Amino acid sequence: MRSRNSYAEPYRIKMVEPISLKGRAEREDLIKKAYYNIFNLKAEDIYIDLLTDSGTSAMSANQWAGMMLGDESYAGSRNFYKLLAAVQDIFGYKYLVPTHQGRAAENILMSMFVIENQKVPGNMHFDTTEGHIRLRKAQPLNLVIDEGLNTESNHQFKGNVDLERLEKELKANDSSKLPLIIITATCNNNGGQPVSMDNLRNASKLAHKYGRPLFIDAARYAENCYFIQQRDPVYRNKPIRDIAREMFSYADGCTMSSKKDALVNIGGFLAFKDNEEWYEKAVQMQICYEGFRTYGGLAGRDLEAIARGLYEGTEAGYLEDRIGQVNYLGQKLLDIGVPCVTPIGGHGVFVDALKFLPHLPQNFFPAQALVVELYREAGIRSVELGTCAFGYTDPVTGNEVYPSQELVRLTIPRRVYTDRHMDFVVKAFEEIAGRRENIRGLESTYQADILRHFTARFRLRGQ
Ligand SMILES: *Cc1c(COP(=O)(O)O)cnc(C)c1O
Repeated sequence: MRSRNSYAEPYRIKMVEPISLKGRAEREDLIKKAYYNIFNLKAEDIYIDLLTDSGTSAMSANQWAGMMLGDESYAGSRNFYKLLAAVQDIFGYKYLVPTHQGRAAENILMSMFVIENQKVPGNMHFDTTEGHIRLRKAQPLNLVIDEGLNTESNHQFKGNVDLERLEKELKANDSSKLPLIIITATCNNNGGQPVSMDNLRNASKLAHKYGRPLFIDAARYAENCYFIQQRDPVYRNKPIRDIAREMFSYADGCTMSSKKDALVNIGGFLAFKDNEEWYEKAVQMQICYEGFRTYGGLAGRDLEAIARGLYEGTEAGYLEDRIGQVNYLGQKLLDIGVPCVTPIGGHGVFVDALKFLPHLPQNFFPAQALVVELYREAGIRSVELGTCAFGYTDPVTGNEVYPSQELVRLTIPRRVYTDRHMDFVVKAFEEIAGRRENIRGLESTYQADILRHFTARFRLRGQ
């Protein structure tokens, strides 16, 4: 990776969307009225929104121009064929099933392969993937390598699946118990960590030795390709598109959330390498849940924007700037002593709140307290991945069960913020670090039984 100050953004800004920072008193009032839960804030009350990189990208002039060429025919839209050609070119897959989002592609895939009491292994499934597996009363298995769960390990491919454990599962369970394997690249849930080409190749060998299909959850495939290019000397001089072709050649198909690396605000797809029978089966589900085979719940103009976005998302200059910006923020935070998960991942910086606020025990919600403080200090919205999101009350003992980590995720939308916005985030951390021992944590006042972080309510302790 070139140093960040040896180049500038590989685009200029043609259209701007005004944002503004509310006064401190107003921010404190707004977050209080939101019960100290950032999901309850209005987006317009936020200055820098780092809640997610999903569907928050800025489209290019080329994508917007493509929107005007939307062919809104019910069947056989020109834009479908354009997207099909892009998927065949970039992924090397013959069959395309457009869907309204990534999770809709997962729904179709799981309904084709998964039934009760089965296991679905992978490195680490994304939440909605887990949801679709569990909905069918099957069990998701996360077999990421041990380094992938160690926030301090500097392993270069922390998204890798543990091949020994994978083979053990394949040996112990025939295809009636373990119908498919899904590898998520990059691995979202442990910090946007990449999967190596060797790992994918070997996982593919194992899958096919035991006669099971391998699918890639491709939401951030281009970011994964960039990490392979930067970190594996074998690929140093290979173009991203060649790396992508090789990566997908090891799988039998993929699910895609276009809201990530296809640089659009909505959309997804399911694709198969060459299995026509799967395709025909998928189309039946698609027609019931999404729409006819050539639009799948999307407007023609959306299909066009995805086709164009797929190409832009694999451009070397774009990826260098994108991953470079996330790394820029991460390194600056590390430089001022903010503990972060390393190596810095592809789509966000994950701050270790237990280390940043060591005086707060987990029942004081340290990560959520930091999320609240970032809003109070600087109008920044981040997201908690700690006790609020993952803790729960044990139904048998009635005790609170705490997760092993308290993380705050700063997720960077693509092509939306400049490095000056990043500098502002760093400054907010500096301010907070200077008075961190005064942060007293939160107290829960309401929690739902499931997915409680979306609706949880809190009050500040000691006030
Ligand atoms: C976002 C995401 C999904 C789900 O996609 P949606 O478009 O949000 O439905 C699946 N897998 C991964 C890795 C994701 O990041």
